[in-house]
Amino acid sequence: MPNRHGLSRDIPDPIQREIRQRSKFGCVICRAGIYDYEHIDPDFSNATHHDPDDICCLCTSCHAKVTRGQFSKAYVRKKYDEVQTAILADVPPPFDYLDFHDGKAELKIGGISYDPGVTSIVKYHGKEIFSVSPSVGETTAGICATFLDNEGKDTLKIVDNIWNGAVGAWDTEVVGPRIKVRKKRGVFSLILRLEPPGRIVIEKLDMRISDSHILVSENSHALGRYDENDRIYWFHANMVHMGAPLLEASAIEFLTDLEAEWRDQKWNGKGKRLATADNNIVMQTGLGVANKRMGIIVGASCLKFGIGSFSCGGPRPIGKMRTMVFRKPDRVAEYIGTGRS
Ligand SMILES: [Zn+2]
Repeated sequence: MPNRHGLSRDIPDPIQREIRQRSKFGCVICRAGIYDYEHIDPDFSNATHHDPDDICCLCTSCHAKVTRGQFSKAYVRKKYDEVQTAILADVPPPFDYLDFHDGKAELKIGGISYDPGVTSIVKYHGKEIFSVSPSVGETTAGICATFLDNEGKDTLKIVDNIWNGAVGAWDTEVVGPRIKVRKKRGVFSLILRLEPPGRIVIEKLDMRISDSHILVSENSHALGRYDENDRIYWFHANMVHMGAPLLEASAIEFLTDLEAEWRDQKWNGKGKRLATADNNIVMQTGLGVANKRMGIIVGASCLKFGIGSFSCGGPRPIGKMRTMVFRKPDRVAEYIGTGRS
């Protein structure tokens, strides 16, 4: 209902975003990542317009302290000013807790289905980028993940089942069960959908990690490697399911020092094996589906996996690849094509 000046409660989107940016995407007092837009002074009933100078992000708990007369409006104003003027490194990131109470943990990524025993979801050069841990004994289930944007900058971290936004992001917005991080207007770096307890679905991810790139929609993915001229080659494996994980199994693995790692650790000649004529793409039990030239394995160290198809090729421009993964997920493999041109 509009106030006595006829002002609607609805704050236009661009103004909401400016308020989020100025509040560094969290409650200006406690940094909670779930908040409402609070008219500081004048309060909403006396406001004549929605002015980002006078509206900040405030969580319901801090808001309740204001309405109960425990926090002054002047305090809210001071905290808003502090968050706006501080250097980014001094502003704590917005945060919130995730629900993993029943012992399960799953991160759904790019249409790749895996057994609960697979705990490394994305590994890059030996380092866990996304990992899940079901509860064992006293330990709590959970997810650890570091999400980056298309230039390799932090967008969101999940550590010990608390998500932390990046104060330097262009926009981070929590809408219903989704956390959305934008690079600029209409361009998403990340969309997570929380499905509590224990499940997080990556609806969209556009992430550069050093010499590699990960594009993920809910049902498809494209894994890229840049060459020295910044051209990018792509790999896609349409996995049906990965099961029976061995030690250090990973859903997606980017290898370092390609040939050495391949020879010494991954390739042992055992198991059932299918390979392309040039031996570049190998599907082998216990190994996964590997693109040796690119150093990418899907389903690494899993004894059982069903595969629909795989595709590798390039270079393909990243802009077009994004369109395919996000808007035409069932045509990704076809677009990547085969061979290295
Ligand atoms: Zn608060």
